[in-house]
Amino acid sequence: MFIDPHAHMISRTTDDYEAMAKAGVVAVIEPAFWIGQARTNAGSYADYLSHILGFERFRAGQFGVRHYCCIGLNSKEANNEPLAEAVMEILPGFATKEGVVAIGEIGYDEQTALEDKYFRLQLDLARDLDLPVMIHTPHRDKKRGASRSMDVIIEHKVDPSRVVIDHVNEETIQEVRDRGFWAAFSIYPHSKMTAERMVALVKTFGPERLIVDSACDWGVSDPLSVPKTAKLMAEHGLSEDAIRKVTYANALAVYGQSGQMAEADWLAPAAIDQRTLYQGNTVLRGGQVPRVDQSES
Ligand SMILES: [Zn+2]
Repeated sequence: MFIDPHAHMISRTTDDYEAMAKAGVVAVIEPAFWIGQARTNAGSYADYLSHILGFERFRAGQFGVRHYCCIGLNSKEANNEPLAEAVMEILPGFATKEGVVAIGEIGYDEQTALEDKYFRLQLDLARDLDLPVMIHTPHRDKKRGASRSMDVIIEHKVDPSRVVIDHVNEETIQEVRDRGFWAAFSIYPHSKMTAERMVALVKTFGPERLIVDSACDWGVSDPLSVPKTAKLMAEHGLSEDAIRKVTYANALAVYGQSGQMAEADWLAPAAIDQRTLYQGNTVLRGGQVPRVDQSES
Protein backbone atom coordinates (compact mmCIF):
# COMPACT_ATOMS: atom_id res chain seq x y z
CA MET A 1 0.00 0.00 0.00
CA PHE A 2 1.18 3.47 -0.90
CA ILE A 3 0.07 7.04 -0.29
CA ASP A 4 0.97 9.74 -2.80
CA PRO A 5 0.81 12.79 -0.55
CA HIS A 6 1.29 15.39 -3.31
CA ALA A 7 -0.63 14.80 -6.53
CA HIS A 8 -2.56 17.32 -8.62
CA MET A 9 -5.09 14.79 -9.82
CA ILE A 10 -7.34 17.46 -11.32
CA SER A 11 -4.75 17.54 -14.15
CA ARG A 12 -4.58 13.78 -14.62
CA THR A 13 -6.59 11.20 -16.53
CA THR A 14 -8.73 8.24 -15.54
CA ASP A 15 -5.91 6.00 -16.90
CA ASP A 16 -3.67 7.52 -14.24
CA TYR A 17 -6.15 6.71 -11.49
CA GLU A 18 -6.47 3.13 -12.77
CA ALA A 19 -2.68 2.71 -12.96
CA MET A 20 -2.17 4.19 -9.47
CA ALA A 21 -4.82 1.95 -7.91
CA LYS A 22 -3.34 -1.09 -9.66
CA ALA A 23 0.16 -0.19 -8.38
CA GLY A 24 -1.15 -0.05 -4.80
CA VAL A 25 -1.76 3.68 -4.27
CA VAL A 26 -4.66 3.73 -1.80
CA ALA A 27 -4.79 7.47 -1.12
CA VAL A 28 -3.69 10.76 -2.65
CA ILE A 29 -3.44 14.28 -1.27
CA GLU A 30 -4.25 17.08 -3.69
CA PRO A 31 -2.74 20.41 -2.65
CA ALA A 32 -4.33 23.59 -3.98
CA PHE A 33 -1.91 25.03 -6.55
CA TRP A 34 -1.10 27.14 -9.55
CA ILE A 35 -3.12 25.98 -12.56
CA GLY A 36 -0.53 27.02 -15.17
CA GLN A 37 -1.94 30.49 -15.74
CA ALA A 38 -3.00 33.26 -13.42
CA ARG A 39 -6.54 33.29 -12.06
CA THR A 40 -8.05 36.73 -12.42
CA ASN A 41 -10.67 36.69 -9.66
CA ALA A 42 -11.59 34.97 -6.42
CA GLY A 43 -14.64 33.38 -8.02
CA SER A 44 -12.51 31.11 -10.18
CA TYR A 45 -10.49 30.26 -7.06
CA ALA A 46 -13.67 29.31 -5.19
CA ASP A 47 -14.78 27.08 -8.06
CA TYR A 48 -11.35 25.44 -8.21
CA LEU A 49 -11.35 24.70 -4.46
CA SER A 50 -14.85 23.28 -4.54
CA HIS A 51 -13.85 21.22 -7.59
CA ILE A 52 -10.90 19.52 -5.85
CA LEU A 53 -13.02 18.99 -2.70
CA GLY A 54 -16.04 17.78 -4.62
CA PHE A 55 -15.92 16.28 -8.08
CA GLU A 56 -12.24 15.26 -7.92
CA ARG A 57 -12.83 13.44 -4.64
CA PHE A 58 -15.77 11.65 -6.25
CA ARG A 59 -13.76 10.83 -9.40
CA ALA A 60 -10.90 9.31 -7.35
CA GLY A 61 -13.38 7.21 -5.39
CA GLN A 62 -14.79 5.82 -8.62
CA PHE A 63 -11.39 4.17 -9.16
CA GLY A 64 -10.90 3.05 -5.56
CA VAL A 65 -8.46 5.80 -4.55
CA ARG A 66 -9.18 7.91 -1.42
CA HIS A 67 -8.71 11.62 -2.09
CA TYR A 68 -7.76 14.37 0.38
CA CYS A 69 -6.91 18.05 -0.10
CA CYS A 70 -4.71 20.83 1.16
CA ILE A 71 -6.32 24.26 0.92
CA GLY A 72 -4.33 27.44 0.38
CA LEU A 73 -3.35 30.42 -1.73
CA ASN A 74 -0.23 29.56 -3.74
CA SER A 75 2.78 31.83 -3.62
CA LYS A 76 2.64 32.96 -7.27
CA GLU A 77 -0.91 34.26 -6.93
CA ALA A 78 -0.08 35.90 -3.60
CA ASN A 79 1.60 38.55 -5.77
CA ASN A 80 -1.80 39.74 -7.04
CA GLU A 81 -2.87 41.62 -3.93
CA PRO A 82 -6.58 42.22 -4.69
CA LEU A 83 -6.96 38.54 -5.64
CA ALA A 84 -5.01 37.40 -2.59
CA GLU A 85 -7.14 39.52 -0.25
CA ALA A 86 -10.35 38.09 -1.68
CA VAL A 87 -9.02 34.51 -1.55
CA MET A 88 -8.00 34.90 2.10
CA GLU A 89 -11.66 35.71 2.86
CA ILE A 90 -12.91 32.42 1.45
CA LEU A 91 -10.11 30.10 2.62
CA PRO A 92 -11.42 29.37 6.15
CA GLY A 93 -14.75 28.16 4.74
CA PHE A 94 -12.97 25.67 2.48
CA ALA A 95 -10.24 24.66 4.95
CA THR A 96 -12.80 23.35 7.43
CA LYS A 97 -14.51 21.02 4.95
CA GLU A 98 -14.35 17.22 5.07
CA GLY A 99 -11.17 15.68 3.68
CA VAL A 100 -8.93 18.73 4.20
CA VAL A 101 -5.71 17.50 5.81
CA ALA A 102 -3.57 20.68 5.70
CA ILE A 103 -3.14 24.28 4.65
CA GLY A 104 -1.00 24.16 1.49
CA GLU A 105 0.85 24.26 -0.65
CA ILE A 106 2.04 27.62 0.63
CA GLY A 107 5.44 29.30 0.92
CA TYR A 108 7.72 31.30 -1.33
CA ASP A 109 8.19 31.48 -5.07
CA GLU A 110 10.22 34.62 -5.83
CA GLN A 111 10.34 35.54 -2.11
CA THR A 112 8.56 38.88 -2.58
CA ALA A 113 7.04 41.02 0.18
CA LEU A 114 3.50 40.00 -0.82
CA GLU A 115 4.41 36.31 -0.79
CA ASP A 116 5.76 36.83 2.69
CA LYS A 117 2.61 38.62 3.83
CA TYR A 118 0.20 35.88 2.67
CA PHE A 119 2.48 33.08 3.80
CA ARG A 120 2.38 34.49 7.33
CA LEU A 121 -1.40 34.99 7.27
CA GLN A 122 -1.90 31.40 6.15
CA LEU A 123 0.40 30.06 8.87
CA ASP A 124 -1.78 31.87 11.39
CA LEU A 125 -4.86 30.34 9.77
CA ALA A 126 -3.34 26.84 10.03
CA ARG A 127 -2.53 27.43 13.69
CA ASP A 128 -6.03 28.78 14.41
CA LEU A 129 -7.70 25.83 12.65
CA ASP A 130 -5.21 23.35 14.15
CA LEU A 131 -4.31 21.99 10.71
CA PRO A 132 -0.95 20.65 9.47
CA VAL A 133 0.88 22.66 6.78
CA MET A 134 2.42 21.71 3.42
CA ILE A 135 5.25 24.01 2.34
CA HIS A 136 6.26 24.53 -1.27
CA THR A 137 9.95 25.48 -1.40
CA PRO A 138 11.09 27.65 -4.32
CA HIS A 139 12.95 26.13 -7.24
CA ARG A 140 15.25 29.14 -7.53
CA ASP A 141 17.36 30.08 -4.54
CA LYS A 142 16.02 26.99 -2.81
CA LYS A 143 18.34 26.83 0.18
CA ARG A 144 17.70 30.39 1.30
CA GLY A 145 13.95 30.05 0.57
CA ALA A 146 13.71 26.87 2.61
CA SER A 147 15.62 28.31 5.57
CA ARG A 148 13.53 31.45 5.52
CA SER A 149 10.28 29.40 5.37
CA MET A 150 11.33 27.45 8.46
CA ASP A 151 12.31 30.65 10.32
CA VAL A 152 8.90 32.18 9.62
CA ILE A 153 7.01 29.01 10.60
CA ILE A 154 8.78 28.92 13.95
CA GLU A 155 8.23 32.65 14.42
CA HIS A 156 4.49 32.05 13.91
CA LYS A 157 4.52 29.32 16.53
CA VAL A 158 3.49 26.49 14.22
CA ASP A 159 4.96 23.24 15.54
CA PRO A 160 7.48 21.70 13.06
CA SER A 161 6.05 18.26 13.82
CA ARG A 162 2.92 19.41 11.96
CA VAL A 163 4.72 20.84 8.93
CA VAL A 164 5.92 19.11 5.74
CA ILE A 165 8.61 20.93 3.78
CA ASP A 166 8.18 19.73 0.19
CA HIS A 167 10.48 19.63 -2.86
CA VAL A 168 13.44 18.99 -0.54
CA ASN A 169 16.77 17.90 -2.04
CA GLU A 170 20.35 17.10 -0.96
CA GLU A 171 20.97 20.77 -0.30
CA THR A 172 18.08 21.24 2.14
CA ILE A 173 17.48 17.86 3.81
CA GLN A 174 19.91 18.31 6.70
CA GLU A 175 18.44 21.55 7.94
CA VAL A 176 14.83 20.35 7.53
CA ARG A 177 15.56 17.26 9.61
CA ASP A 178 17.66 19.04 12.22
CA ARG A 179 14.90 21.55 12.87
CA GLY A 180 12.24 18.87 13.41
CA PHE A 181 10.21 19.25 10.21
CA TRP A 182 9.05 16.48 7.86
CA ALA A 183 10.94 16.41 4.56
CA ALA A 184 9.05 15.49 1.39
CA PHE A 185 10.68 14.72 -1.97
CA SER A 186 8.96 15.14 -5.30
CA ILE A 187 10.28 12.43 -7.59
CA TYR A 188 10.23 13.57 -11.19
CA PRO A 189 11.21 11.55 -14.26
CA HIS A 190 13.66 14.18 -15.59
CA SER A 191 14.38 16.95 -13.11
CA LYS A 192 14.50 17.89 -9.45
CA MET A 193 14.78 14.67 -7.46
CA THR A 194 15.17 11.24 -9.07
CA ALA A 195 14.32 7.85 -7.57
CA GLU A 196 18.03 6.92 -7.55
CA ARG A 197 18.97 9.98 -5.53
CA MET A 198 16.06 9.27 -3.17
CA VAL A 199 17.40 5.77 -2.48
CA ALA A 200 20.77 7.28 -1.58
CA LEU A 201 19.15 9.82 0.76
CA VAL A 202 17.18 7.18 2.67
CA LYS A 203 20.40 5.15 3.01
CA THR A 204 22.26 8.15 4.39
CA PHE A 205 19.61 9.75 6.57
CA GLY A 206 17.31 6.83 7.47
CA PRO A 207 13.54 6.85 6.91
CA GLU A 208 12.36 8.94 9.85
CA ARG A 209 10.29 11.96 8.77
CA LEU A 210 11.13 11.46 5.06
CA ILE A 211 8.24 11.30 2.59
CA VAL A 212 8.16 10.42 -1.13
CA ASP A 213 5.61 11.99 -3.48
CA SER A 214 5.10 12.37 -7.23
CA ALA A 215 3.89 16.00 -7.36
CA CYS A 216 2.26 14.92 -10.61
CA ASP A 217 0.43 17.76 -12.33
CA TRP A 218 -0.15 19.16 -15.83
CA GLY A 219 3.58 19.10 -16.61
CA VAL A 220 5.92 16.21 -17.39
CA SER A 221 5.60 14.11 -14.26
CA ASP A 222 4.83 10.53 -13.25
CA PRO A 223 1.83 9.57 -11.10
CA LEU A 224 3.55 6.23 -10.41
CA SER A 225 6.66 7.82 -8.87
CA VAL A 226 5.84 6.55 -5.37
CA PRO A 227 5.42 2.84 -6.21
CA LYS A 228 8.36 3.01 -8.66
CA THR A 229 10.64 4.54 -6.02
CA ALA A 230 9.53 1.89 -3.52
CA LYS A 231 10.48 -0.82 -6.00
CA LEU A 232 13.90 0.71 -6.56
CA MET A 233 14.43 0.96 -2.80
CA ALA A 234 13.67 -2.75 -2.43
CA GLU A 235 16.12 -3.58 -5.23
CA HIS A 236 18.78 -1.59 -3.39
CA GLY A 237 18.22 -3.54 -0.20
CA LEU A 238 16.36 -1.01 1.90
CA SER A 239 14.24 -2.70 4.56
CA GLU A 240 10.51 -3.21 4.17
CA ASP A 241 9.98 -1.08 7.26
CA ALA A 242 11.99 1.84 5.84
CA ILE A 243 10.16 1.68 2.51
CA ARG A 244 6.79 1.56 4.22
CA LYS A 245 7.67 4.63 6.27
CA VAL A 246 8.72 6.84 3.37
CA THR A 247 6.01 5.74 0.93
CA TYR A 248 3.07 5.34 3.31
CA ALA A 249 3.31 5.59 7.09
CA ASN A 250 5.07 8.94 7.46
CA ALA A 251 2.56 10.77 5.25
CA LEU A 252 -0.28 9.21 7.21
CA ALA A 253 1.34 10.18 10.52
CA VAL A 254 1.77 13.85 9.69
CA TYR A 255 -1.42 14.52 7.72
CA GLY A 256 -3.46 12.21 9.98
CA GLN A 257 -2.97 14.88 12.66
CA SER A 258 -5.77 16.75 10.88
CA GLY A 259 -8.25 14.14 12.10
CA GLN A 260 -9.44 13.87 8.49
CA MET A 261 -7.36 10.93 7.24
CA ALA A 262 -7.23 7.45 8.75
CA GLU A 263 -6.28 3.95 7.60
CA ALA A 264 -9.87 2.80 8.03
CA ASP A 265 -10.77 5.06 5.07
CA TRP A 266 -9.14 2.58 2.69
CA LEU A 267 -8.91 -0.61 4.78
CA ALA A 268 -12.67 -0.77 5.22
CA PRO A 269 -13.60 1.09 2.07
CA ALA A 270 -16.91 1.96 0.64
CA ALA A 271 -17.46 -0.29 -2.36
CA ILE A 272 -16.64 1.11 -5.79
CA ASP A 273 -19.90 1.76 -7.55
CA GLN A 274 -19.53 3.42 -10.92
CA ARG A 275 -23.29 3.71 -11.23
CA THR A 276 -22.99 6.64 -8.80
CA LEU A 277 -23.45 10.15 -10.18
CA TYR A 278 -22.02 13.51 -9.13
CA GLN A 279 -24.34 16.39 -9.98
CA GLY A 280 -25.83 14.08 -12.59
CA ASN A 281 -22.47 13.15 -14.11
CA THR A 282 -20.77 9.78 -14.42
CA VAL A 283 -17.09 9.05 -15.09
CA LEU A 284 -18.18 6.50 -17.70
CA ARG A 285 -18.93 7.10 -21.33
CA GLY A 286 -21.51 5.58 -23.67
CA GLY A 287 -21.87 1.81 -23.58
CA GLN A 288 -19.42 1.17 -20.72
CA VAL A 289 -20.42 -1.34 -18.07
CA PRO A 290 -20.13 0.27 -14.60
CA ARG A 291 -17.71 -1.39 -12.22
CA VAL A 292 -19.50 -2.39 -9.02
CA ASP A 293 -17.29 -3.93 -6.31
CA GLN A 294 -18.57 -5.36 -3.06
CA SER A 295 -17.31 -3.77 0.13
CA GLU A 296 -14.68 -5.88 1.89
CA SER A 297 -16.13 -5.28 5.33
ZN1 LIG B 1 2.39 20.89 -6.22
